[in-house]
Amino acid sequence: MSLFDKFKPIIDIRSELDSLGIMPFGAVTEKILSPTEAIVNGHEVILAGTNNYLGLTFDPECIAAAKTAIEEQGTGTTGSRMANGTFAEHVRLEQELAGFFDKQYAIVFSTGYAATMGMASTLAGPGDVIVMDADSHASLYDGVRLSGAEVIRFRHSDAADLEKRLRRLGERISNTLIIVEGIYSMLGDRAPLREFVEVKRRYGGLLMVDEAHSLGMLGEHGRGLAEQEGVEDDVDFIVGTFSKSLGAIGGYCVSNHPQLDAIRFATRSYIFTASPSPSVIASTRAALRLLQERPGLRKQLWDNARQLYSGLQELGFQVGPEVSPVVAVTVEDRDRAIFWWNQLLQQGAYVNLVMPPASPGNNSLLRCSVSAAHTSEQIDRILAAFATLDKQASLAASDNA
Ligand code: PMP
Repeated sequence: MSLFDKFKPIIDIRSELDSLGIMPFGAVTEKILSPTEAIVNGHEVILAGTNNYLGLTFDPECIAAAKTAIEEQGTGTTGSRMANGTFAEHVRLEQELAGFFDKQYAIVFSTGYAATMGMASTLAGPGDVIVMDADSHASLYDGVRLSGAEVIRFRHSDAADLEKRLRRLGERISNTLIIVEGIYSMLGDRAPLREFVEVKRRYGGLLMVDEAHSLGMLGEHGRGLAEQEGVEDDVDFIVGTFSKSLGAIGGYCVSNHPQLDAIRFATRSYIFTASPSPSVIASTRAALRLLQERPGLRKQLWDNARQLYSGLQELGFQVGPEVSPVVAVTVEDRDRAIFWWNQLLQQGAYVNLVMPPASPGNNSLLRCSVSAAHTSEQIDRILAAFATLDKQASLAASDNA
């Protein structure tokens, strides 16, 4: 027995894939050409597996803001938000986020992971209860584990199951946190948030929604699923990330609860890590402004989503339950998913390969995501790559071509 034994399954699969010349995990982007094109593992590809939903990573205004910040404030803050790492711009971004979400309080974190994990681990503690959707993101699972609270899972997006579990809590509902997401990252489905809110109104508890994949995509102003469903006042905490629609890195929590300001000083992922670099804050602020100034980006994103979703459906692939900027093709056979992932790369399309346990159920996924920056012709090229896949193919037949 050694500490290393537990890594054997990872080592085995990596060496199997290496011997076939297939490198889906940690694929290297050798050159990034635009928000939608790159050279990955030696292949020039259309990027169909990023979270660059609004395509802002190369926006001249975001780049100019980041450059100015580097020149004026340096490359990093070299400290925690709690000590020397809160610059005036971090505070401004918090004010802008609060204004955008029409909430009173906001916290900026160094990553989305630090925001979602940190809030989940801090809002509830020993003696409290967390009731969470079973398909929650790993960051939320990490957070609830760290919290020390009793954790109860309900069936994915099932309001009746949530209700059953809240009913059983009795008096304990007063110190219960409910956690769900907006758009789910793997299959692109949306939580039935209005139904969840109905249940919460009847039973109580505090509700936190992770809108990592819905900021900039849903709602009249792009605030996410809570805005689209008209339930923002019923959501106690919205958490999310700057690493997707805002094209940077970092995370946030917004709320109308005045306790949020105290919560920041109790959240370990806020305290014990360095604050985001000035350039990151500057490009995020520019992107947040553009998200509001250019609603056309949202429309383009959904046009592209419809084109990819219906195209894959027409080709006979099993896609997620609804049109979404995340379009995942379910592949039951893991080896076929790996083989197809590699074929797609060779045909000029990069998608995400997701295998259990990261994917829901026991299936693998070829997870595609669209960007407002994709042209219709690029979506056609992604579809053309899928059209070449041999439905009978298997990994054993791979010729490493
Ligand atoms: N929550 C969800 C639902 C996510 O999908 C992600 C990122 N995949 C995160 C939180 C963490 O965000 P980040 O990658 O920006 O740290």
